[in-house]
Amino acid sequence: MPSYGLLVVFLSLLTIFPPVFAMQQYESEQVTAWQYRWGDSEFVNGEPEWIVTPELHSSDWKDIDFPCMPPDRGQYNTVWFKATLPDSDHDYLHPVLYVTSIDLMAEVYLEDKKIYQFGDLNNKQHKSFYGWPWHSIDLPDDYAGKTIYFRVFSSYRDIGLWGEVKLFEKTHLLFYLLEKAYFEVLVALFSLFVAIITLAFSMMHRGERHFLYLSLFSLTSAVMLLAENPAVQFVFNYPLVRVYLLAISYYALPVITSLLLSSWFDDWRHKWLINIAVVHLIYLISVIGLSLAGLIELAVTFPIFDAIFAITILLIIGLGISKRYSLASDQHLVMLSFTVYGIFLLLDMGIANSVLPWMHLDISVGALLFALVLMLISLRHYSHVQSALKELNEHLEVKVAERTASLHAYAEAEQERAEQLQRLNVLGARLEELNSRLQTVDNLTEARHLLIKKLPDVFMPVELSVTTSLDGVSFERQLAQVELQELDGSYNVFVYLVLNNLSSKKLIKQDNLNDFINRVKLRLGVTLSSIKLKEELHRFSFEDALTGLANRRFFDLALHRETQLANRQKNPLSLLICDIDHFKHFNDEYGHEVGDFVLKTLAQLMNEFFRETDIPCRYGGEEFVVIMPGATIDDATEKAELLRRIVADKQMVFNGKHIDSITISIGIADLTPSRSESEQLLSDADKALYIAKECGRNRVETTHP
Ligand code: GH3
Ligand code: MG
Ligand code: MG
Repeated sequence: MPSYGLLVVFLSLLTIFPPVFAMQQYESEQVTAWQYRWGDSEFVNGEPEWIVTPELHSSDWKDIDFPCMPPDRGQYNTVWFKATLPDSDHDYLHPVLYVTSIDLMAEVYLEDKKIYQFGDLNNKQHKSFYGWPWHSIDLPDDYAGKTIYFRVFSSYRDIGLWGEVKLFEKTHLLFYLLEKAYFEVLVALFSLFVAIITLAFSMMHRGERHFLYLSLFSLTSAVMLLAENPAVQFVFNYPLVRVYLLAISYYALPVITSLLLSSWFDDWRHKWLINIAVVHLIYLISVIGLSLAGLIELAVTFPIFDAIFAITILLIIGLGISKRYSLASDQHLVMLSFTVYGIFLLLDMGIANSVLPWMHLDISVGALLFALVLMLISLRHYSHVQSALKELNEHLEVKVAERTASLHAYAEAEQERAEQLQRLNVLGARLEELNSRLQTVDNLTEARHLLIKKLPDVFMPVELSVTTSLDGVSFERQLAQVELQELDGSYNVFVYLVLNNLSSKKLIKQDNLNDFINRVKLRLGVTLSSIKLKEELHRFSFEDALTGLANRRFFDLALHRETQLANRQKNPLSLLICDIDHFKHFNDEYGHEVGDFVLKTLAQLMNEFFRETDIPCRYGGEEFVVIMPGATIDDATEKAELLRRIVADKQMVFNGKHIDSITISIGIADLTPSRSESEQLLSDADKALYIAKECGRNRVETTHP
């Protein structure tokens, strides 16, 4: 993991660098025995009177330990400091005087010669703030024993020099500053790195502002460390910009801290912390704005801020302590490191504001501690995120597997469905083919034969047979029945579908098979009904509606066919024509209804009287004909005579009332070599009937050749 590596590199740098610097011996000399004098010297010919004529009011110079904030300032904004430069043991090649910082600007004189200037003291209108850089003041070789003067101006609370004032070999000063700076630079870089990491976390968890605040905190403390760092001056010599950066980052620190802590609490502390953040934010924005606008001096905003911030630090620590039992372990760590950092900040403030004596304080230790804690939290969080991701991944894998399985099942089902559909299509096509063949069939008997023979093929691969009876067929083999709709709406089973192979039924899904069977029943049922209708119509066209005997149309065909057959086979054939005697008179007396009844009775009688092979037909009106294949003229005459008598003796009752019996006259002709045509046969039989009528009716006459 990269952050682990960086941590290791960072810690190694911390341990390696101090010995490197420790090998260097920085030769330096403290400047001591300072004196100060409030106010400003007169300048004669551009030279300060206080230097040129030192005896002038020499009693006004007073001793001071360090050239900073002399007592009894009064209204003075200018002060002079002087000291005698020591005669050093070291033989400096390039001697310089190092000053950590100046409040706020100064001119430096060695004897009566101005050797250094920071800011413009002589511009009475506009004395500006130039920042707090460190100073390296070049000295001549013969500096020893000479007096150095600092003419200092400050409208700020602090006035004078600050930190260290030391003689150095110029190159040694460089190393000295680097040594002072390296730790802070490393901590700043590390803080920057932590800021990036925590920012990444905050991006991952947009809902959690916690990490965003931690990131901002690290960032500001990094900027703060860099802005204050003396080494930065080597590469970025804009002291005022650095002070602005310092101010912004330093003033933002409590804003971010309060916001961070406020996200932990949901009680009154939350509101308090938000208020603290708001106060600091207002301060930050207003003082930076005002000083950029040139309305106030940025330097003066520091002590005010320090005062507010000191209270804030104590408040925050207090709030943290008051809530310590309900804080999470991460929060405990942050709180603890903030407390340490806060103490460092308080100490730094004390030194900066001369409440505490000057000492070298590595505020970066506090920042480092804080950054390390954040790093630790981030690492922990990272491992949590990793394990959560792993869990999520596993969960997703399971989900994907489930989804794949269900898709697979779906695909299989779809394929199965497609196969079934194709199979059903084939079956449907076969059904239509069979149905169109069925439509060409004239009668039901033929239709039944066709179905028995061909319907099983339609159902393949389901193996079945078509039967007309279920005798001996087990229940589970009975698949379905095709029904025939009668004209009156009732149903008759036409054929049964019987499974030959039970397991073959499974080749088609139950629902699909049922649907198909229904389709078969419907299609074939309709066709069968139409066949039945056709058959019936055919039959009706040859049947006499009143008597049920064959009609004249049928008689004509039958007579033609039978005479040809008899001629070919040299068989005898006779033809009878019967006519009811005086039927007109009968009708007149009893009415047509009774007449019809008589016709029906006679027809029935004839139907029963003649042999199966004889063909009685109604010829028209009250005339009947009987074709008698195989009957000689004698057979026919005998039969006719018997019929005549039976009819004459028949007692008839209509609606419970006796009616007169009827008589019939019969003419007979037989097939002979000279009368071999049906027309001739009929004509001769009719002639015989005419004779019977002529001879008195109720008699049988035959044609005589
Ligand atoms: P004949 O002894 O000379 O045969 O005398 P006929 O009255 O029977 O003969 P004719 O040909 O003059 O009359 C036939 C009658 O048969 C006329 C008609 O009233 C009757 N008839 C014919 N067809 C039907 C029928 O379908 N129903 C009834 N009720 N009467 C019929
Ligand atoms: Mg007649
Ligand atoms: Mg008649």
